[in-house]
Amino acid sequence: MRYLSTRGEAPRLDFCDAMLAGLARDGGLYVPERLTPLAPAAIRALAGLPYAEAATRVVAPFVGEDFTAAELAELARDAYSGFRHAATAPLIQLDANLFLLELFHGPTLAFKDFAMQWLGRAMDRALERRDRRATILGATSGDTGAAAIEAFGGLPRADVFILFPKGRVSDVQRRQMTTVDKPNVHAIAIEGSFDDCQAIVKALFSDLAFRDELGLSGVNSINWARILAQIVYYFTAAAALGAPDRRIAFAVPTGNFGDVLAGYYAKGMGLPISRLTIATNENDILARALATGLYKPLGVKATQSPSMDIQVSSNFERLLFEVYGRDAGAVRGLMGALKQAGEFSIAPPSLGAIRRDFDAERVDEQACAEEMARVYRDSGVVVDPHSAVGVHAARAALARDPATPVISLATAHPAKFPEAVERAIGRRPELPPHLAEVVSRREHYATLANDPAAVARFVRERARVAA
Ligand SMILES: *Cc1c(COP(=O)(O)O)cnc(C)c1O
Repeated sequence: MRYLSTRGEAPRLDFCDAMLAGLARDGGLYVPERLTPLAPAAIRALAGLPYAEAATRVVAPFVGEDFTAAELAELARDAYSGFRHAATAPLIQLDANLFLLELFHGPTLAFKDFAMQWLGRAMDRALERRDRRATILGATSGDTGAAAIEAFGGLPRADVFILFPKGRVSDVQRRQMTTVDKPNVHAIAIEGSFDDCQAIVKALFSDLAFRDELGLSGVNSINWARILAQIVYYFTAAAALGAPDRRIAFAVPTGNFGDVLAGYYAKGMGLPISRLTIATNENDILARALATGLYKPLGVKATQSPSMDIQVSSNFERLLFEVYGRDAGAVRGLMGALKQAGEFSIAPPSLGAIRRDFDAERVDEQACAEEMARVYRDSGVVVDPHSAVGVHAARAALARDPATPVISLATAHPAKFPEAVERAIGRRPELPPHLAEVVSRREHYATLANDPAAVARFVRERARVAA
């Protein structure tokens, strides 16, 4: 299987090279040359399998010859062995036809662990085989950084640099990044927003000399391997509810558009998903874009679901590539307009194509808090603010189509956001024991200006690849 860039001006790569690159050299994102369909019988057979086994089957066609079947099986077993729930991704019922997929039982308590635990191990193998080192550079709105540091901390061939927006992640999120005492881990607070952090990362990746000198690798959801690992749980959850013999809808708390995009690819592979509901907080660029066709970032607003406080949803570019008929020139035009004019309009046929698969709901702060309270009152389940945004949007989807079950993705453990949860339900969720110690351990991190040059200097001085 080969991968091509959404901007059409970078070389086609095999799976491992696309994974090690992260962002394509032309600034685009890698997508598979084609989607291999999974036959109905193969989907049916996923029901009830151990998660790692299902993951191996779903991922295999995308990896091609790069890993053997035995290696893939070992990677998945290893990646999911650290999850603290025997079902890995348990599905619970909240209401008639409303289900919650709990994706927060990994080591850092957010769904990011599903992809990052797999990616860390896969990258380590690929680097070993090539006998080279990598400098991992990533931006985080909170959970990616913790998951990346957990997955890459201590790996002999990688140094990991994570930029987070100063003062805009929760205490638990920050401490998960800043209390890891490993020499290859560097947490950096940037004086700016998540979008600023992401812009710095993209700027450093597009400085090709710097990129080659440092052997930069990206672990944001611009990395195809992250999306791939997330496709798995759409299949396992839908199969558990009767797919492919029954249509299923999903509601997905959305920021950078990686998670919900994985659902779109699952549908492209043959999973009968009736609709994908994009659930946004008050940072509602995607809801506005679907309603009006105009994609226009506004200022970022801080909310109680900080991991979704994002205005530039990088992975939307992959969807644009598909709904523009894989026309890389058109994607270059749109991204150029975004850079120059700060906005672009989606052509009506492409917008129509998006609306056939997706709808979007904006959930404001009050509705989010009320949803946490409602779920707790109605079912005794405590959900975090991100998951509550999803559930609220799922109810809207159910109101439009009551006959189709909706699976709402629970993307973080409530204990990551104790203040918001306590305000909503009057009870403070407790951190699981393995994380309780992050509140007392000593923190260390650097603070840098919102300036790519300052970050480049910092990385060059500390990355061991340059030596
Ligand atoms: C990252 C994150 C999201 C948003 O996921 P995207 O793939 O960026 O759309 C939602 N909820 C939580 C808790 C997250 O960490």
